[in-house]
This record gives sequence, C-alpha cells and structure tokens, in this order.
Amino acid sequence: MASRLGMGGRSDPRPPIPSREGRPAEGAPDAVEGAPVAAEGPDHSEPASPSTLRPGTLYIVATPIGNREDITLRALRVLREADVVAAEDTRHTRALLSYHGIARPLASYREQNRTTSAPALLQRLETGTVALVSDAGMPAIADPGAELIRQVVAAGGRVEVVPGPNAALAALVGSGLPPAPFLFAGFLSRQRGDRRRQLDALAARPETLVFYEAPHRVIETLGDLVEALGDRSAAACRELTKLHEEVRRAPLSGLLDHYRTTTPRGEFVLVVHGATGEQARTHTPGGAPTTVSDGDVDALLAGAMAHGERMRAVVADLAARSNLSRREVYARWQALRRARGGPDADD
Ligand code: SAM
Repeated sequence: MASRLGMGGRSDPRPPIPSREGRPAEGAPDAVEGAPVAAEGPDHSEPASPSTLRPGTLYIVATPIGNREDITLRALRVLREADVVAAEDTRHTRALLSYHGIARPLASYREQNRTTSAPALLQRLETGTVALVSDAGMPAIADPGAELIRQVVAAGGRVEVVPGPNAALAALVGSGLPPAPFLFAGFLSRQRGDRRRQLDALAARPETLVFYEAPHRVIETLGDLVEALGDRSAAACRELTKLHEEVRRAPLSGLLDHYRTTTPRGEFVLVVHGATGEQARTHTPGGAPTTVSDGDVDALLAGAMAHGERMRAVVADLAARSNLSRREVYARWQALRRARGGPDADD
C-alpha cells in the first residue's frame, strides 16, 4: 500500500557525507541571527546545495547531553538540510545550531503543544523533511517525540533515527556495573505510593536498573531504592560530558550518606545492580515466591548467567516458578550460552 506520507520504503543507498563547513569562522556573525522560529515563516536560512535527505522522512536526531561537540557528522548534515527542525526549546536548539554554523527554520514541538503542532509537521512531511530534536540526547527517551513518531508510523510515513548521545547509555557503560541485560526505568513517579509500587515491581529483576532523577529528588529516591531493593552496588552519574562530570560508585547506602552531606547538583542518572541470588528468585513485596511468565524466563536466565550463578540451581528454581519443565528451562539456558559464544556446559 502506498504511504500517505512521502515515498516510504528504504531501498535507496545511503547518501554521501557532504563537505560543507560545519563550524562558523572565528568572529563570524551568528549565522542564525534573524532566522525564523516558526516553521511557517519565510526561510532566511543559508542556501542549501541539493539536499541528500529523503522527502517524506521524519529524522530523529540525537543532540549533545552537555558537551556541544558530541554530535555526529550525519546529525549536522541532517540538521543543515532538513526543511524544518522541530525542537523542544527553539532558543536552546538555535544556540546549538548556531554553534555549528547552521541556520534552519525551527518549529516548536514540546510536551505542552504537541497536539497542536503535530498536524503542521505531518503536513510538511507530505513533501518535505523534518528533523526532530529534544533539548538533550535522544528524542523520545524521557523527552517528547514518541507520539510524533507513532503518528508518522501510523500514517505510513518514514522515520529514520540518527543515533548519538544518550544519558542512560553513557551512565550504564561508565558505571562499571553489568551493561547487559539492563532495564531503563526513566523517571520514577513523583507520587510516593506509585514510586514504591514501581520499585517493588523492579525488585526481583535481574537486569541492571537505570533511573533518571532530578537533583532535588536524588536523596529521597536513593532512600527509596535502598528500602525497596536492598543495599546494592550502584553508581550516581552526574553531569556527564560536562565540566563537572562525576561518576560515584558505591553501595546505595554509601551514595545516600554522601548526598546527605553534599547537596546533589546537576543532572543525575542512577545505575543500580540487578537482583541476584535469593532476591532474584523469591523477592516480592509480601515475601511470597514470584510467579515467572514464560516470557521472563530468558531475561532471568541471562541475568543469572551474567552474575555467574550455578546453572543447576537456576534451572530448578525457574522450572518451579514457571510453566516450563526443567528440560525446557535447561534448553533455554544452553541456547543463551551458545548465543553468547560460550561452550555447552552443565554448570
Ligand atoms: N533524551 C535525553 C537522553 O537521551 O538522555 C534525556 C532527557 S530527560 C528530560 C533529562 C534527564 O536525563 C535528566 O534529568 C537526567 O536524569 C538525564 N541527563 C541528561 N543529561 C545528563 C547529563 N549530562 N548527565 C547526567 N544525566 C543527564
């Protein structure tokens, strides 16, 4: 079926990287000065040589989470060539574009106006291109964007992701905790009861847990994490890629003690070790054994394998708590081991 937005499909080869300059010359005037903020306004931007972008495509462009140099060559090309850059905060994005010598029309797309601004962007995608950015990192990850992507996909349009910085992945990798499997939890609810329910639901997960948190909530959240998950290894990753970047690795209680005496400042990602051993097998808020769905068995096996747990105990435990037989759980363990490049082995 023909797509309602643009051309659909992705049979074309990737366009070459153009050679136009990405940075303004020393002392050059701000290239964005006078550029329109509304996408509907006249286009005063730099004359573009023929665009390498594909009409009808929504480009999801990751931008820096602090260090303005953390932006890919492809992201700069897409931002330079898109008909419109849809931004969470147009002033913030204009400053970033200006730093890189780019002037394009900007349109506002943020949580508060997404219903009213989406139709114009969808219309632009009938014949043109839109680049979507957020204030930092990957759009749609704890940021606006997911709804626009959903609408474009639903309308049969093309979505292309231009990957780049993301605070969760930077923190996870730098934390020193097992990077896989991991579970991105984003921001916990601000309602205390809901937050505790969310944490209770995470308590038996074997994956490394990744949370976003605002500085003024870090102490309360660390307290809740200790209570709900126990005193696990963790890392508080602060101001990543910025001047005062800091990764503090300690048990949750150690992080709590530290931030009780040192006011948390800046942007935070909290990374917490997944459940291990008994906790992974039996923890539920009421202390009753957890019932494991077939779908969760692979994730639990992967977690147990990553933590070096003994195969026999893990297989017996999961067979008892799921609808799978020991033989089936064992087969999955072996399949996972092979997928990870390990030898077939009993323990
Ligand atoms: N879309 C972004 C991404 O891809 O990471 C996340 C945006 S979300 C609104 C903002 C949260 O991300 C902050 O409250 C913080 O938890 C985390 N964050 C963003 N930049 C960060 C940084 N430089 N260092 C640590 N955490 C950061």
